[in-house]
Amino acid sequence: RPRPPRRSCRCCGCAAACSSTRGAGAAPPPSSRASPEPPTRTRLARRPAALGPAVAARWAGDLPFLFKLTCDFSARVQVLSVAKPLSIQAHPDKGLAELLHAMRPATYRDANHKPEMAIAVTEFRALFGFAGIEELKDVIRTVPEVGGLIGHEDADKLMTVKEYHGGNDVKSSLQSAFAKLMTASKEAVSEAVNKLKGRLNDESKIRTLTEKEELVLSLERQYPEDVGVLAALLFNYVKLSPGEAIYIGANEPHAYLSGECIECMATSDNVVRAGLTPKYRDVQTLCSMLTYKQIFPEILRGVPVQPYVRRYTPPTDEFEVDCCLLPPGEVVVMPPVPGPS
Ligand SMILES: [Zn+2]
Repeated sequence: RPRPPRRSCRCCGCAAACSSTRGAGAAPPPSSRASPEPPTRTRLARRPAALGPAVAARWAGDLPFLFKLTCDFSARVQVLSVAKPLSIQAHPDKGLAELLHAMRPATYRDANHKPEMAIAVTEFRALFGFAGIEELKDVIRTVPEVGGLIGHEDADKLMTVKEYHGGNDVKSSLQSAFAKLMTASKEAVSEAVNKLKGRLNDESKIRTLTEKEELVLSLERQYPEDVGVLAALLFNYVKLSPGEAIYIGANEPHAYLSGECIECMATSDNVVRAGLTPKYRDVQTLCSMLTYKQIFPEILRGVPVQPYVRRYTPPTDEFEVDCCLLPPGEVVVMPPVPGPS
């Protein structure tokens, strides 16, 4: 049966921001308001039919996704607002998540993977994945503070590696260099960051700094003496306009820097952090888990599925997101969704 139009999203001007699971079997309408709300899992345990039969069977009675926004019952929707960069992090794949959860359940509180998608609501900035080999060589050449921490041997390896040597050569050189940087002593990192800051401030008087250099100075102001300030130079700097999105798969390094986004992810809280954060850092796990792929992320713009509605479909089964941007006076009736939405 057709559902009534969904709630309005007042933060970004769209008429509805909704996520839907894939699968068959209709779910009952959302439950009415109760305050305070018990945790979602508790509610689902009490009322398993809320998932719909197909989704309940496919995902063992669990909600397969989380939508990172909060709604109150006046239909206000808050998106993730990044006022300060949110840690250099990666999310484990399922195998690693199971291992980490078994070994350190207090830190890694579930055994699930956490693929996620961020859809920009405002101009949005993020770091994602490692930059291409030529850009990395340029960093080694022009940023002695980074080269110094990596050390001659690893810096030389990275400088001489050629892409046609094959992915593994690049990957092992990059992994080794990145681990050296991330595990450098606190004192060495602090000295290198301060040196870089001083040098860039001096050079800004005689030349225009690059966007990445400006970013480094801005990160340093927020996380002084943090190794993440230096590591940022090794990642792709991604800028999204409203409506653009990126999908973040397992074991890919990323950090949200600024702006507002709607985030949808598989149901998990597994985050491995290594920089730009006051929270617990697990540098060793992060360095060993990353894919070290050097690919600029695909910018997703959604596919039109009906007037005013675009669908963002990530390469994971847990969720997809429909975004409706409705001009004043127009009406959209969203078709029924077979599952929680
Ligand atoms: Zn993340």
